Amino acid sequence: MTKLFGTNGVRGVVNEDMTSELALAMGKAIGSYLRKTKDKPSVAIGTDARISNVMLKTSCTSGLLSVGCDVVDLGILPTPTLQFAVKEKNFDAGVIITASHNPPQFNGIKVIDGDGTELAKDQEEEIEKIYFSGNIEKTPWDKVGTFSQWNGAIDLYKKSILSNVDVTAIKNAKISVVLDCGNGAGCFVAPSLLNELDCKVRELNCEPDGLFRGRPSEPVPENLKELMSIVPEEGAEFGVAQDGDADRAIFVDEKGNFVFGDKSFALIARYIVRQRGGGKVVTPVSTSSCLEEVVKAEGGEVIYTAVGSPIVARVMKKVDAVFGGEENGGLIFPEHQYCRDSAMTIAKMLELLAIEKRPLSELIDELPKYEVVKLKTHCPNDKKSQVMNRLSEIVADESEVKSIDRTDGVKIYTKNGWVLVRPSGTEPIFRIFAESKEKSRADNLALKYKKLVEEIIQ
Ligand code: MG
Repeated sequence: MTKLFGTNGVRGVVNEDMTSELALAMGKAIGSYLRKTKDKPSVAIGTDARISNVMLKTSCTSGLLSVGCDVVDLGILPTPTLQFAVKEKNFDAGVIITASHNPPQFNGIKVIDGDGTELAKDQEEEIEKIYFSGNIEKTPWDKVGTFSQWNGAIDLYKKSILSNVDVTAIKNAKISVVLDCGNGAGCFVAPSLLNELDCKVRELNCEPDGLFRGRPSEPVPENLKELMSIVPEEGAEFGVAQDGDADRAIFVDEKGNFVFGDKSFALIARYIVRQRGGGKVVTPVSTSSCLEEVVKAEGGEVIYTAVGSPIVARVMKKVDAVFGGEENGGLIFPEHQYCRDSAMTIAKMLELLAIEKRPLSELIDELPKYEVVKLKTHCPNDKKSQVMNRLSEIVADESEVKSIDRTDGVKIYTKNGWVLVRPSGTEPIFRIFAESKEKSRADNLALKYKKLVEEIIQ
């Protein structure tokens, strides 16, 4: 079967792969899937700020209505805001039209489960099956779905964020922030949220623009140069950047240094676990040990999952975690909701700085330091599982190997750090990540296991 869903919903270039026909057919397939368990499902639909948003939203809406779903349009909003509305307003599902951080010519469709989490792989596969079978049952004329609009999602969402942070402490601290929404959906929430928290805000790219003319949407160092220079100029306490659909937040310290996502994750994790006096923190196996080191030091525990935010969210629910996330800036606060949420992340960072009363650079500097090396090597897709099995057998006998974890790929813990050999889901390659406290050791680990994987492939 051809694949429809990638790692983050269905994505493609508008009017090439991501067409109005595809959105219509997707709407029908999603609706038919929902109709399996409910006669008249209710679906919330929303979009990010891309220029193709209305084209795809109306097509997808039409498909949903044609199979008998009632559709409520929530307008332009961050993905986590739609997810929150789905959960709180008891919709049966949500659909968000977004391509997250991808360039403006892209768009996509992501489906949200009734509890506000992203759909699991097996649910996406069921929709895929319906889509490719072409077995779509149109509803009788008098059972076509109803359509309405609701503009209360953003207020509802902000209220939840404010109820989950120490508003008084934040307000009293009068924190100055440079906020870079990247012209994305974050513009509809973050500026007003920071104002409500009495922050002194310098706005950068806070006007929605479907062409992302301010900066490319992915919050990586090369795209945040302006933010990094404005923060010290303004004398701000930190800068923060969101991606296009505002589920991820990346910070810049008061000196203008880019703070990598593993560091902000570890800093907030330490704060939360310390506050709770322990608890479980969930993250994929690829995350830096910096997180585990600080969480353990506070009496908490890290639980590792396969890579993918829907998996992290679901495991968090199951183990009743206090926190979780990914090191790309996508953090999950279970008291608020089970999905990555940049506005909640910014609010929690404000609280942390208000309570700690120390510069962000100092707090980041205290965190344990690890060196990461990332390599890749070619491997035909049909050989991948055989190679991983053989690799596990071989390394089991090596004296430097302490343990092997097969949660996702093969993660090998050694005396000097760990190495993760993980098959790419989309390309015929293995990604090889090595981490150690020393750069030379990380290099050696990565090179050693890359060579071993290549020998096995041959
Ligand atoms: Mg995103």
